[in-house]
Amino acid sequence: MRRISFQDGITYTFGPSMTPIAKVRSGETVEFACQDACGGQIRSEKDTLDDLDMDRVNGATGPVGVIGSRAGDVIRIRIREIRVAELGFQSIVSGHGVLGDEVRKSRTKMIPIEDGIAIFSKRIRVPTRTHVGTIGVAPAEKEWTTFYPGDHGGNLDTKEISKGSSVYLPVFQSGAQLAMGDIHALMADGEVCVTGIEIAGTVRVQVDVLRGVALKRPLVETADSWMTLASAPTLDEAAKLATHDGVEMLARGADLSWDEAYMLASIACDLRISQDVDPWRTAKLVIPKSLVRRLPQG
Ligand code: CA
Repeated sequence: MRRISFQDGITYTFGPSMTPIAKVRSGETVEFACQDACGGQIRSEKDTLDDLDMDRVNGATGPVGVIGSRAGDVIRIRIREIRVAELGFQSIVSGHGVLGDEVRKSRTKMIPIEDGIAIFSKRIRVPTRTHVGTIGVAPAEKEWTTFYPGDHGGNLDTKEISKGSSVYLPVFQSGAQLAMGDIHALMADGEVCVTGIEIAGTVRVQVDVLRGVALKRPLVETADSWMTLASAPTLDEAAKLATHDGVEMLARGADLSWDEAYMLASIACDLRISQDVDPWRTAKLVIPKSLVRRLPQG
């Protein structure tokens, strides 16, 4: 198994021209060792988001070239395992997050993780659900910082990108150039305060090149559903795009007219928020696998 560490290579942008630090074949398993989203700069509750060197924030380990992938293909990234460190943190800062205008003072809270339980306080303990916050490939055109989510993936902050799920990303450049980081021990839909439980860790994935799948934007597959993800400057725009893609997938996957798929989506497919705090926002339409069993081809 290949192991790639942030010490081998870390990127703070997803751009059309990325130089791989390693190359893997379709079907290979790779482990990505990742820093926490703040690059290890938050060590205690005295450290806040105000003090950060922003050039070292939200790094993604990689990129890793996927041999044989080219523009128009899709890569499937199956998340096999995520292991996290023993200590994570959350931070709030004025001007960021859904209630950024109500935050008076920056604050950091260190959160120990013990046997899969996040110790929020003596009284409040919450089971972790680790996931990968940032996962992406080289985009079609402009360069995006890793703070942005987009058609290329990036800072999707989608809690279902967790063990057992698969992420499908369109390939825009030869070799795809996969990078990931920004692991969370736990996060809820919305990521309202601007942080999940940010934590260092390793992600083991299996990467496959798929042909004959038309995909414009990221798609997530869980045990029981498909999620069409879309990111845009506003949540309204992201919701519209995610719904557009989801209705199209439902029509093709369940062999329905567009009208019927649109109506069925309205009664059977939840439109949800991945995150409402990043520079662009991410929404998802959730299609139960009982309606679409297999990824539609063509
Ligand atoms: Ca993030």
